[in-house]
Amino acid sequence: MMAARHNWTKEEILVIYNKPLMELLYEAATIHRLHHDPNTVQVSTLLPIKTGGCPEDCGYCPQAARYHTNIEGNDLMSVTQVKAQALRAKASGSSRVCMGAAWRNVKDGEEFDQVLEMVRSINKLDMEVCCTLGMLTENQAKRLAEAGLYAYNHNLDSSEEYYKKVISTRGFEDRLKTIDNVRKTNVTVCSGGIIGMGETEEDRAGMLVALSTLNPQPESVPINALIAVEGTPLEDQKPVSIWDMVRMVATTRIVMPETQVRLSAGRTQMSQEGQSLCFFAGANSIFAGDKLLTTPNPDVNEDMELFKLLGLNTQKPFIKKIQPQTVEAKDSKYESLGEKPKWSRPEHTIERNESAKEKAKSLK
Ligand code: SF4
Repeated sequence: MMAARHNWTKEEILVIYNKPLMELLYEAATIHRLHHDPNTVQVSTLLPIKTGGCPEDCGYCPQAARYHTNIEGNDLMSVTQVKAQALRAKASGSSRVCMGAAWRNVKDGEEFDQVLEMVRSINKLDMEVCCTLGMLTENQAKRLAEAGLYAYNHNLDSSEEYYKKVISTRGFEDRLKTIDNVRKTNVTVCSGGIIGMGETEEDRAGMLVALSTLNPQPESVPINALIAVEGTPLEDQKPVSIWDMVRMVATTRIVMPETQVRLSAGRTQMSQEGQSLCFFAGANSIFAGDKLLTTPNPDVNEDMELFKLLGLNTQKPFIKKIQPQTVEAKDSKYESLGEKPKWSRPEHTIERNESAKEKAKSLK
């Protein structure tokens, strides 16, 4: 079995991405079989534990407070609510719960302590726990690890060059820094991006270079297709073609053979045949539930029907890595440091983000 390579170039990746489709699919499916069970797909459930009101300006995101979307902000969910939802997810076949909070970065304090309790309670249900909470310091990563976190999600979103055309309030290098902080623990890394934001094929390849040259490569890479939400700066983007999605999944599989490739946002726009091609091309995880944070997703029954049709099984938890042990808060080695790290604020101007902000102001 070939080990993962960490020196992929953009040129090499573009050659793969643009291969004749049948050749690309054959190569990706062959690599997939060498590293994974081709009939098993992980089902993860996304739990939006705190939505809306985010201070960032990510051009694709309906949760950014500065744009006018119909997302209602909610306070942080309680540990009891989260546990109840996790139990429901487990009963319907999910092996992982991914909790998302619309935060720029994690702040030490009561809310983070509450998230740590959520992590403890889900790990005790013998499910993989993932969090996506924004930028994270090393101490915060260690506290999450101690609570029993299995994975931390922090997407690179796009190539470094195109990232600057989508987000102005936080820098690409801080994304990498957060991933690096997670790597100082045993928590696995989940990091991917979005296609269909107006980026070029070079940008798609650039994102895969940034991800595949990380050493180790992320254990999990979500590939999202943009859902253009009204009111966001990217509201007018045309849906990405299924062929682009299949090519992206296949290329990701080839350059990151051991990674779990996640078919994420945008599945509602895909037919069953389209999704099946993605599984054949190496996607081996989906997000379940009728909402992905705030955008629509196929319902769980539809997913299970498709699994049955294709003869796919759901992946059991902790197949790839053993379950972390939960340390109770009272026995914790790491305490809250009340850190105030200086994460970057590039604040360059992105015209479409500015217009969406102005439009939102005029509607208030
Ligand atoms: S993607 Fe995350 S950080 Fe960006 S605006 Fe949305 S919630 Fe905030």
